[in-house]
Amino acid sequence: MKVLVINCGSSSLKYQLFDMTDESVLAKGLVERIGIEGSRIKHTKTGQDTVIKNMPIPDHKVGIKATLDALLDKDHGALGSLDELHAVGHRVVHGGEKFSSSVVVNKEVLEAIEECVPLAPLHNPANLMGIKAMMELLPETPQVAVFDTAFHQTMPKHAYMYGVPYHYYEEYKTRRYGFHGTSHYYVAYRAAEILGKPVEDLKIVTCHLGNGSSITAVDGGKSVDTSLGFGTVPGVIMGTRCGEIDPTVVLYLMEKENLDTKLMSHILHKESGILGISGISSDMRDVEEAAEGGNERAKLALDMLCYGIRKHIGAYAAAMNGLDAIVFTAGIGENSSLVREKVLEELSFLGIKVDYEKNKSRGKEVIISTEDSKVVAMVVPTNEELVIAKDTLELTK
Ligand code: ADP
Repeated sequence: MKVLVINCGSSSLKYQLFDMTDESVLAKGLVERIGIEGSRIKHTKTGQDTVIKNMPIPDHKVGIKATLDALLDKDHGALGSLDELHAVGHRVVHGGEKFSSSVVVNKEVLEAIEECVPLAPLHNPANLMGIKAMMELLPETPQVAVFDTAFHQTMPKHAYMYGVPYHYYEEYKTRRYGFHGTSHYYVAYRAAEILGKPVEDLKIVTCHLGNGSSITAVDGGKSVDTSLGFGTVPGVIMGTRCGEIDPTVVLYLMEKENLDTKLMSHILHKESGILGISGISSDMRDVEEAAEGGNERAKLALDMLCYGIRKHIGAYAAAMNGLDAIVFTAGIGENSSLVREKVLEELSFLGIKVDYEKNKSRGKEVIISTEDSKVVAMVVPTNEELVIAKDTLELTK
Protein backbone atom coordinates (compact mmCIF):
# COMPACT_ATOMS: atom_id res chain seq x y z
CA MET A 1 0.00 0.00 0.00
CA LYS A 2 1.60 3.26 -1.14
CA VAL A 3 1.17 6.53 0.70
CA LEU A 4 2.54 9.88 -0.44
CA VAL A 5 3.52 12.50 2.15
CA ILE A 6 3.54 16.16 1.15
CA ASN A 7 5.04 19.05 3.09
CA CYS A 8 4.15 22.22 1.25
CA GLY A 9 5.91 25.49 2.08
CA SER A 10 5.31 28.89 0.53
CA SER A 11 7.91 28.40 -2.20
CA SER A 12 8.92 24.76 -1.80
CA LEU A 13 7.38 21.32 -1.54
CA LYS A 14 8.94 18.21 -0.03
CA TYR A 15 7.58 14.75 -0.69
CA GLN A 16 8.18 11.12 0.28
CA LEU A 17 6.54 8.05 -1.12
CA PHE A 18 6.17 5.18 1.37
CA ASP A 19 5.44 1.52 0.85
CA MET A 20 3.42 0.96 4.01
CA THR A 21 3.74 -2.82 3.88
CA ASP A 22 7.21 -2.37 5.39
CA GLU A 23 7.23 1.42 5.96
CA SER A 24 10.12 1.83 3.51
CA VAL A 25 10.71 5.01 1.49
CA LEU A 26 10.42 4.31 -2.25
CA ALA A 27 11.28 7.82 -3.44
CA LYS A 28 11.57 11.35 -2.16
CA GLY A 29 12.18 14.80 -3.47
CA LEU A 30 12.00 18.52 -3.26
CA VAL A 31 10.37 21.09 -5.54
CA GLU A 32 12.21 24.38 -5.06
CA ARG A 33 11.58 28.02 -5.92
CA ILE A 34 7.88 27.68 -6.72
CA GLY A 35 6.74 30.92 -8.33
CA ILE A 36 10.33 32.20 -8.49
CA GLU A 37 12.86 32.26 -11.33
CA GLY A 38 15.06 29.13 -11.40
CA SER A 39 12.53 26.59 -10.14
CA ARG A 40 13.41 22.91 -10.24
CA ILE A 41 12.59 19.47 -8.91
CA LYS A 42 15.14 17.21 -7.21
CA HIS A 43 13.96 13.63 -7.16
CA THR A 44 15.57 10.54 -5.70
CA LYS A 45 14.35 7.01 -6.16
CA THR A 46 15.69 4.92 -3.28
CA GLY A 47 18.93 3.28 -4.38
CA GLN A 48 19.45 5.61 -7.34
CA ASP A 49 21.24 8.92 -7.86
CA THR A 50 19.29 12.15 -7.46
CA VAL A 51 17.93 13.61 -10.69
CA ILE A 52 17.43 17.35 -11.04
CA LYS A 53 15.05 18.83 -13.57
CA ASN A 54 14.98 22.59 -14.11
CA MET A 55 11.56 23.70 -15.27
CA PRO A 56 9.14 26.59 -14.82
CA ILE A 57 6.98 25.93 -11.72
CA PRO A 58 4.74 28.99 -11.42
CA ASP A 59 2.45 27.63 -8.70
CA HIS A 60 1.84 24.73 -6.32
CA LYS A 61 -0.45 22.91 -8.73
CA VAL A 62 2.38 22.70 -11.28
CA GLY A 63 4.68 21.65 -8.43
CA ILE A 64 2.34 18.82 -7.43
CA LYS A 65 1.99 17.79 -11.10
CA ALA A 66 5.80 17.71 -11.41
CA THR A 67 5.95 15.55 -8.28
CA LEU A 68 3.43 13.05 -9.66
CA ASP A 69 5.24 12.98 -13.03
CA ALA A 70 8.55 12.28 -11.26
CA LEU A 71 6.92 9.44 -9.31
CA LEU A 72 5.51 7.98 -12.54
CA ASP A 73 8.76 8.35 -14.53
CA LYS A 74 9.66 5.00 -16.05
CA ASP A 75 13.36 5.28 -15.15
CA HIS A 76 13.37 7.17 -11.84
CA GLY A 77 9.79 6.77 -10.68
CA ALA A 78 8.31 4.43 -8.10
CA LEU A 79 4.70 4.21 -9.24
CA GLY A 80 3.38 2.23 -12.22
CA SER A 81 0.19 4.27 -12.21
CA LEU A 82 -1.54 6.78 -9.95
CA ASP A 83 -4.08 4.08 -9.01
CA GLU A 84 -1.33 2.53 -6.87
CA LEU A 85 -1.46 5.57 -4.62
CA HIS A 86 -3.64 4.62 -1.65
CA ALA A 87 -3.78 8.07 -0.04
CA VAL A 88 -1.90 11.34 0.42
CA GLY A 89 -0.91 12.80 3.80
CA HIS A 90 -0.26 16.52 4.17
CA ARG A 91 1.66 18.32 6.88
CA VAL A 92 -0.43 21.25 8.09
CA VAL A 93 1.23 23.69 10.48
CA HIS A 94 -1.70 25.07 12.44
CA GLY A 95 -4.86 23.31 13.50
CA GLY A 96 -5.74 25.83 16.23
CA GLU A 97 -8.03 24.37 18.88
CA LYS A 98 -10.06 22.56 16.23
CA PHE A 99 -7.75 19.63 15.61
CA SER A 100 -6.21 17.46 18.29
CA SER A 101 -5.48 14.63 15.86
CA SER A 102 -5.12 13.95 12.14
CA VAL A 103 -8.22 13.98 9.92
CA VAL A 104 -9.39 12.95 6.46
CA VAL A 105 -9.83 16.14 4.44
CA ASN A 106 -13.33 17.15 3.38
CA LYS A 107 -15.03 20.49 2.75
CA GLU A 108 -15.51 21.23 6.48
CA VAL A 109 -11.86 20.40 7.23
CA LEU A 110 -10.68 22.70 4.45
CA GLU A 111 -12.81 25.49 5.91
CA ALA A 112 -11.46 24.86 9.41
CA ILE A 113 -7.84 24.96 8.16
CA GLU A 114 -8.71 28.19 6.37
CA GLU A 115 -10.05 29.60 9.65
CA CYS A 116 -6.66 28.91 11.23
CA VAL A 117 -4.86 31.04 8.59
CA PRO A 118 -4.69 34.14 10.87
CA LEU A 119 -2.81 31.97 13.40
CA ALA A 120 -0.23 30.83 10.82
CA PRO A 121 -0.41 33.34 7.96
CA LEU A 122 2.81 32.16 6.31
CA HIS A 123 2.26 28.43 6.58
CA ASN A 124 -1.40 27.42 6.44
CA PRO A 125 -2.07 29.08 3.03
CA ALA A 126 0.81 27.09 1.49
CA ASN A 127 -0.39 23.87 3.14
CA LEU A 128 -3.89 24.53 1.79
CA MET A 129 -2.58 25.16 -1.71
CA GLY A 130 -0.87 21.76 -1.63
CA ILE A 131 -4.02 19.97 -0.46
CA LYS A 132 -6.28 21.71 -2.97
CA ALA A 133 -3.89 21.10 -5.88
CA MET A 134 -3.70 17.42 -4.97
CA MET A 135 -7.50 17.18 -4.67
CA GLU A 136 -7.86 18.64 -8.15
CA LEU A 137 -5.31 16.31 -9.69
CA LEU A 138 -6.38 13.20 -7.76
CA PRO A 139 -10.07 13.70 -6.91
CA GLU A 140 -10.62 10.04 -6.01
CA THR A 141 -7.64 9.66 -3.69
CA PRO A 142 -8.21 10.35 0.03
CA GLN A 143 -6.24 13.25 1.49
CA VAL A 144 -5.30 13.42 5.16
CA ALA A 145 -4.18 16.47 7.16
CA VAL A 146 -1.65 16.00 9.98
CA PHE A 147 -1.18 19.04 12.21
CA ASP A 148 2.01 20.33 13.84
CA THR A 149 -0.04 21.68 16.73
CA ALA A 150 -2.26 18.62 17.36
CA PHE A 151 0.02 16.72 19.77
CA HIS A 152 0.12 19.74 22.10
CA GLN A 153 -3.66 20.00 22.42
CA THR A 154 -3.41 17.89 25.60
CA MET A 155 -1.67 20.73 27.49
CA PRO A 156 -3.60 21.74 30.59
CA LYS A 157 -5.15 25.19 30.53
CA HIS A 158 -2.82 26.57 33.20
CA ALA A 159 0.10 25.72 30.89
CA TYR A 160 -1.29 27.19 27.69
CA MET A 161 -2.91 30.41 28.88
CA TYR A 162 -1.11 33.76 28.84
CA GLY A 163 -1.63 36.29 31.60
CA VAL A 164 -3.36 38.92 29.48
CA PRO A 165 -7.08 39.72 30.01
CA TYR A 166 -9.12 36.57 29.50
CA HIS A 167 -11.39 38.05 26.87
CA TYR A 168 -8.46 38.17 24.41
CA TYR A 169 -8.35 34.40 24.56
CA GLU A 170 -12.10 34.25 23.97
CA GLU A 171 -12.04 36.76 21.11
CA TYR A 172 -8.73 36.00 19.40
CA LYS A 173 -7.66 32.59 20.74
CA THR A 174 -4.39 33.99 22.04
CA ARG A 175 -2.80 31.05 23.86
CA ARG A 176 0.17 28.72 23.65
CA TYR A 177 -0.30 26.20 20.83
CA GLY A 178 3.18 24.76 20.35
CA PHE A 179 4.69 23.37 17.15
CA HIS A 180 6.84 20.44 15.92
CA GLY A 181 4.16 18.22 17.52
CA THR A 182 4.63 15.38 15.06
CA SER A 183 8.35 15.28 15.85
CA HIS A 184 7.90 15.41 19.63
CA TYR A 185 5.30 12.67 19.41
CA TYR A 186 7.52 10.44 17.26
CA VAL A 187 10.68 10.74 19.35
CA ALA A 188 8.88 10.37 22.70
CA TYR A 189 7.08 7.20 21.61
CA ARG A 190 10.22 5.83 19.94
CA ALA A 191 12.22 6.56 23.12
CA ALA A 192 9.71 4.51 25.13
CA GLU A 193 10.11 1.64 22.63
CA ILE A 194 13.90 1.84 22.90
CA LEU A 195 13.65 1.83 26.71
CA GLY A 196 11.24 -1.10 26.55
CA LYS A 197 8.71 0.66 28.79
CA PRO A 198 5.11 1.79 28.20
CA VAL A 199 5.11 5.46 27.28
CA GLU A 200 2.27 5.89 29.84
CA ASP A 201 4.80 5.23 32.62
CA LEU A 202 7.41 7.74 31.46
CA LYS A 203 8.17 11.42 31.99
CA ILE A 204 10.18 12.58 29.00
CA VAL A 205 11.60 15.91 27.87
CA THR A 206 11.99 15.99 24.10
CA CYS A 207 14.38 18.58 22.62
CA HIS A 208 13.72 19.29 18.92
CA LEU A 209 16.71 21.46 18.02
CA GLY A 210 16.87 22.52 14.38
CA ASN A 211 16.69 25.89 12.66
CA GLY A 212 13.50 26.23 14.64
CA SER A 213 13.63 24.61 18.08
CA SER A 214 11.18 23.55 20.73
CA ILE A 215 11.31 21.59 23.94
CA THR A 216 8.35 19.59 25.20
CA ALA A 217 7.36 17.91 28.44
CA VAL A 218 5.75 14.58 27.58
CA ASP A 219 4.09 13.02 30.61
CA GLY A 220 2.60 9.59 30.11
CA GLY A 221 2.70 10.04 26.33
CA LYS A 222 0.92 13.40 26.37
CA SER A 223 2.34 16.85 25.78
CA VAL A 224 1.84 18.85 28.98
CA ASP A 225 3.96 21.89 28.13
CA THR A 226 6.09 23.11 25.26
CA SER A 227 8.45 26.00 24.63
CA LEU A 228 6.98 27.44 21.42
CA GLY A 229 3.74 29.27 21.94
CA PHE A 230 1.17 31.32 20.07
CA GLY A 231 3.87 31.91 17.52
CA THR A 232 7.24 30.42 16.74
CA VAL A 233 9.65 32.77 18.50
CA PRO A 234 9.55 31.87 22.23
CA GLY A 235 11.56 29.23 24.08
CA VAL A 236 15.26 28.77 23.35
CA ILE A 237 17.17 30.94 20.86
CA MET A 238 16.91 29.56 17.34
CA GLY A 239 18.76 30.04 14.04
CA THR A 240 17.26 33.48 13.45
CA ARG A 241 14.44 33.68 16.05
CA CYS A 242 14.94 35.40 19.36
CA GLY A 243 13.57 32.86 21.84
CA GLU A 244 12.14 33.95 25.18
CA ILE A 245 12.06 37.72 25.52
CA ASP A 246 10.46 40.22 27.86
CA PRO A 247 7.67 41.75 25.71
CA THR A 248 8.52 45.21 27.04
CA VAL A 249 11.83 44.98 25.14
CA VAL A 250 9.82 44.70 21.95
CA LEU A 251 7.68 47.71 22.85
CA TYR A 252 10.76 49.71 23.84
CA LEU A 253 12.62 48.93 20.59
CA MET A 254 9.58 49.77 18.48
CA GLU A 255 9.39 53.14 20.15
CA LYS A 256 13.13 53.89 20.09
CA GLU A 257 13.69 52.83 16.48
CA ASN A 258 10.29 53.85 15.23
CA LEU A 259 9.59 50.32 13.97
CA ASP A 260 6.23 49.16 12.69
CA THR A 261 4.94 45.66 13.51
CA LYS A 262 6.16 44.25 10.19
CA LEU A 263 9.73 45.38 10.70
CA MET A 264 9.75 44.34 14.35
CA SER A 265 8.41 40.94 13.38
CA HIS A 266 11.17 40.61 10.78
CA ILE A 267 13.81 41.38 13.42
CA LEU A 268 12.38 38.84 15.89
CA HIS A 269 11.98 36.09 13.28
CA LYS A 270 14.84 36.64 10.86
CA GLU A 271 17.63 38.70 12.41
CA SER A 272 17.75 37.42 15.97
CA GLY A 273 18.76 34.23 17.76
CA ILE A 274 22.02 32.50 16.93
CA LEU A 275 22.55 34.76 13.90
CA GLY A 276 21.75 37.95 15.78
CA ILE A 277 23.95 37.14 18.77
CA SER A 278 26.91 35.58 16.94
CA GLY A 279 26.84 38.01 14.02
CA ILE A 280 28.25 35.09 12.01
CA SER A 281 25.58 32.67 10.91
CA SER A 282 22.31 31.01 11.81
CA ASP A 283 23.92 27.65 11.14
CA MET A 284 25.17 25.88 14.25
CA ARG A 285 28.09 24.29 12.38
CA ASP A 286 29.53 27.72 11.52
CA VAL A 287 28.94 28.97 15.05
CA GLU A 288 30.58 25.94 16.67
CA GLU A 289 33.59 26.36 14.42
CA ALA A 290 33.89 30.08 15.22
CA ALA A 291 33.49 29.40 18.96
CA GLU A 292 36.27 26.82 18.80
CA GLY A 293 38.40 29.45 17.07
CA GLY A 294 37.85 31.78 20.03
CA ASN A 295 35.10 34.06 18.71
CA GLU A 296 33.44 35.47 21.83
CA ARG A 297 30.04 36.16 20.34
CA ALA A 298 29.85 32.71 18.80
CA LYS A 299 30.67 31.30 22.24
CA LEU A 300 27.95 33.47 23.75
CA ALA A 301 25.35 32.22 21.24
CA LEU A 302 26.31 28.63 22.03
CA ASP A 303 26.18 29.29 25.79
CA MET A 304 22.79 31.00 25.49
CA LEU A 305 21.36 28.08 23.54
CA CYS A 306 22.68 25.41 25.91
CA TYR A 307 21.65 27.38 29.00
CA GLY A 308 18.16 27.86 27.57
CA ILE A 309 17.79 24.14 26.85
CA ARG A 310 19.01 23.29 30.35
CA LYS A 311 16.58 25.74 31.95
CA HIS A 312 13.67 24.23 30.03
CA ILE A 313 14.64 20.69 31.00
CA GLY A 314 14.77 21.77 34.65
CA ALA A 315 11.45 23.57 34.40
CA TYR A 316 9.74 20.62 32.72
CA ALA A 317 11.14 18.14 35.26
CA ALA A 318 9.42 20.36 37.85
CA ALA A 319 6.25 20.62 35.71
CA MET A 320 6.03 16.81 35.53
CA ASN A 321 7.30 16.25 39.06
CA GLY A 322 9.93 13.86 37.74
CA LEU A 323 12.06 12.96 34.75
CA ASP A 324 12.94 9.60 33.23
CA ALA A 325 14.45 10.54 29.87
CA ILE A 326 15.76 13.42 27.79
CA VAL A 327 15.61 12.99 24.03
CA PHE A 328 17.57 15.06 21.49
CA THR A 329 16.42 15.32 17.89
CA ALA A 330 16.50 17.41 14.65
CA GLY A 331 19.62 18.90 13.00
CA ILE A 332 21.40 20.17 16.11
CA GLY A 333 20.00 17.58 18.52
CA GLU A 334 20.97 14.67 16.29
CA ASN A 335 24.39 15.95 15.26
CA SER A 336 25.91 18.31 17.78
CA SER A 337 27.68 16.31 20.47
CA LEU A 338 28.98 19.64 21.80
CA VAL A 339 25.50 21.04 22.46
CA ARG A 340 24.32 17.77 24.05
CA GLU A 341 27.39 17.59 26.26
CA LYS A 342 27.12 21.23 27.37
CA VAL A 343 23.44 20.75 28.23
CA LEU A 344 23.79 17.47 30.09
CA GLU A 345 27.00 18.14 32.01
CA GLU A 346 25.39 20.75 34.16
CA LEU A 347 22.34 18.67 34.91
CA SER A 348 24.32 16.37 37.19
CA PHE A 349 22.07 17.38 40.11
CA LEU A 350 19.39 15.26 38.40
CA GLY A 351 21.75 12.29 38.51
CA ILE A 352 22.55 12.46 34.79
CA LYS A 353 25.89 11.02 33.74
CA VAL A 354 27.08 11.44 30.16
CA ASP A 355 28.75 8.60 28.26
CA TYR A 356 31.22 10.75 26.29
CA GLU A 357 32.17 8.03 23.87
CA LYS A 358 28.55 7.30 22.88
CA ASN A 359 27.78 11.02 22.75
CA LYS A 360 30.23 11.36 19.82
CA SER A 361 27.70 9.58 17.61
CA ARG A 362 25.81 11.57 14.96
CA GLY A 363 22.38 11.08 13.42
CA LYS A 364 21.72 7.66 14.95
CA GLU A 365 19.49 6.27 17.68
CA VAL A 366 21.76 5.97 20.70
CA ILE A 367 21.65 6.22 24.50
CA ILE A 368 24.27 8.79 25.48
CA SER A 369 24.07 8.46 29.26
CA THR A 370 25.91 5.85 31.33
CA GLU A 371 24.15 2.75 32.65
CA ASP A 372 24.04 4.15 36.20
CA SER A 373 22.63 7.54 35.09
CA LYS A 374 19.36 8.22 36.94
CA VAL A 375 17.85 9.86 33.85
CA VAL A 376 18.40 8.33 30.42
CA ALA A 377 19.68 10.77 27.79
CA MET A 378 19.33 9.69 24.19
CA VAL A 379 19.39 10.73 20.55
CA VAL A 380 16.43 9.73 18.37
CA PRO A 381 16.48 11.01 14.78
CA THR A 382 13.06 12.41 14.05
CA ASN A 383 10.80 11.04 11.33
CA GLU A 384 7.79 13.29 10.90
CA GLU A 385 7.07 11.91 7.44
CA LEU A 386 6.64 8.39 8.79
CA VAL A 387 4.14 9.63 11.40
CA ILE A 388 2.19 11.40 8.65
CA ALA A 389 2.25 8.27 6.47
CA LYS A 390 1.08 6.05 9.35
CA ASP A 391 -1.75 8.40 10.36
CA THR A 392 -2.77 8.66 6.71
CA LEU A 393 -2.95 4.90 6.32
CA GLU A 394 -4.72 4.44 9.64
CA LEU A 395 -7.46 6.93 8.73
CA THR A 396 -8.00 5.62 5.21
CA LYS A 397 -7.79 1.85 5.69
P1 ADP B 1 14.93 22.71 10.13
O1 ADP B 1 14.36 23.28 11.38
O2 ADP B 1 15.12 23.71 9.03
O3 ADP B 1 14.28 21.41 9.68
P2 ADP B 1 17.22 21.02 10.78
O4 ADP B 1 16.50 20.11 11.73
O5 ADP B 1 17.71 20.47 9.51
O6 ADP B 1 16.43 22.35 10.52
O7 ADP B 1 18.48 21.61 11.60
C1 ADP B 1 19.33 22.56 11.06
C2 ADP B 1 20.39 22.89 12.11
O8 ADP B 1 21.14 21.71 12.42
C3 ADP B 1 21.40 23.93 11.63
O9 ADP B 1 21.67 24.88 12.66
C4 ADP B 1 22.64 23.08 11.40
O10 ADP B 1 23.80 23.82 11.59
C5 ADP B 1 22.50 22.03 12.47
N1 ADP B 1 23.40 20.91 12.21
C6 ADP B 1 23.35 20.02 11.19
N2 ADP B 1 24.44 19.20 11.24
C7 ADP B 1 25.18 19.59 12.32
C8 ADP B 1 26.41 19.16 12.91
N3 ADP B 1 27.09 18.16 12.38
N4 ADP B 1 26.85 19.81 14.01
C9 ADP B 1 26.17 20.84 14.53
N5 ADP B 1 25.01 21.30 14.03
C10 ADP B 1 24.52 20.70 12.94
